Amino acid sequence: MVNTEVLVVGGGPAGVLSALTAAKNGHSVILVDAKSYTEIGNKTCGDAINLGPLKLLDKELGIQLPHGEEVAESVESLVFQTERVTFPLSGPGFVLNRHPYGQRLLKIAVESGVEVRADTKAIRAIVDETGVKGAIVQEKGSKESYEIHAFITIDCSGRNYQIRKTIPTELFPNLEKKMEKRDVAASYREIIRLKEDHPYDNKILLIYDSIIPEPGYFWIFSKGKKRLNIGIGWYLDMSVEKGMKELFREVLHKYYPQGTYEVEDKGGYTIPTRYPLMNAVAPGFIAAGDSAFHVNPFSAEGHGPALSAGYYAGKISSEALKVKDASEQQLWGYNTAVMKDFGLSHTKLQLFTEALRKVKTPGLEYLFKRNILTQDQFMALHSGKGLGKSEIFKIILKGFPRYDLLLNLYKIAKGIQKFNRLFDRYPSTPQEFPDWENEFLLIMNNIRNW
Ligand SMILES: Cc1cc2nc3c(=O)[nH]c(=O)nc-3n(C[C@H](O)[C@H](O)[C@H](O)COP(=O)(O)OP(=O)(O)OC[C@H]3O[C@@H](n4cnc5c(N)ncnc54)[C@H](O)[C@@H]3O)c2cc1C
Repeated sequence: MVNTEVLVVGGGPAGVLSALTAAKNGHSVILVDAKSYTEIGNKTCGDAINLGPLKLLDKELGIQLPHGEEVAESVESLVFQTERVTFPLSGPGFVLNRHPYGQRLLKIAVESGVEVRADTKAIRAIVDETGVKGAIVQEKGSKESYEIHAFITIDCSGRNYQIRKTIPTELFPNLEKKMEKRDVAASYREIIRLKEDHPYDNKILLIYDSIIPEPGYFWIFSKGKKRLNIGIGWYLDMSVEKGMKELFREVLHKYYPQGTYEVEDKGGYTIPTRYPLMNAVAPGFIAAGDSAFHVNPFSAEGHGPALSAGYYAGKISSEALKVKDASEQQLWGYNTAVMKDFGLSHTKLQLFTEALRKVKTPGLEYLFKRNILTQDQFMALHSGKGLGKSEIFKIILKGFPRYDLLLNLYKIAKGIQKFNRLFDRYPSTPQEFPDWENEFLLIMNNIRNW
């Protein structure tokens, strides 16, 4: 048996940030990852990241923005595109080379005092009626497992959510255990090298093509003048006749026919893509990153939120260690920080995802082509600001006779207002959470099942 103050399971962005933040505050931290040390940080990904979380790390922890070989492209705009309409939004960030960036973060963690146990898989949580006490882990190639006991255990195991799913619900009912098919996207991507320069400098494109089941999309992210990260993804509950790779190739060849590119790298994985866990703590436990549904449910960007959530998890853990209290109440500040940072905005973006499931790409094009929904109004909805009554009235007039589309727009606008009001009252104690969560679920399920 091994003892530590903080045990972090998973060395992706959420895990490394949790670990290094707690270690920088002077606490003993063990980070376990199933991967080998040199593979930590390497992940099949679209590689795009928004500037916001990177600035947070720079400001709070002095972690320099990605630079040198870590950056494949600087991004200025995010473009939503269908076959007929194009919507550019300002969106500064990067397309990264994730592996060197992840390895730099790991190095900072080690220099801050984190003990990394690579090739070590967490099997399940150690739990008693007072809380989570650590995890049972197993080294690669070994038949024996052993226990790591910790004051706080942070689950950053991504899609596996290995610790959260092994915590008995009956002991800590505020912590949700499910990960349903409709909340997980399957995704496949290739990095291709072109024979000629492409026209996508400094851009990332999300393309809604009618052969991809909505709200899934095809993406084109620039990684230098002749390189692109191109991928496809949709939700696991969608029934699709063709295989993902076949459909990928079909869409890719609309842009780059066979023979115009070489595949440098390929791979796929699943992404939990839903509004975040409304509560991600239990006594002695925090979940961060994909394991807590921290991926943007509209764009599927999860790298940035995982970094921010990891920082909050490490910070709240060290505050708890200082007062030797790992109760749900003491850790509750983590929920508040996540909700304030991206929790509310991701929840509102879930409305877009639901609407797109209903109106489909042709519906979206109808709204844009006829100028029923303007770019400013789209941005107001997308950023969660919502629309005023007079604007809604004008849209209704212009949208006649497509009341099905208008109803969906109306539900987004209404949902945004409701969530803004509800999150103003986000509970400050775990005791208030069940009633608040019931209100939340009533609104969310009503929207999801309309
Ligand atoms: C194809 C694809 C494209 C994507 N594109 C983008 C994009 O362009 N932009 C963006 O922001 N996000 C993108 N994402 C999402 C992004 O990759 C994730 O949201 C982000 O990596 C989440 O970080 P994390 O630390 O929570 O989990 P992960 O990065 O998944 O890290 C989890 C870590 O836990 C380890 N682990 C898992 N189980 C165990 C266990 N039992 N014991 C020990 N270790 C374990 C894993 O080895 C891994 O190192 C994409 C995802 C996919 C699959």
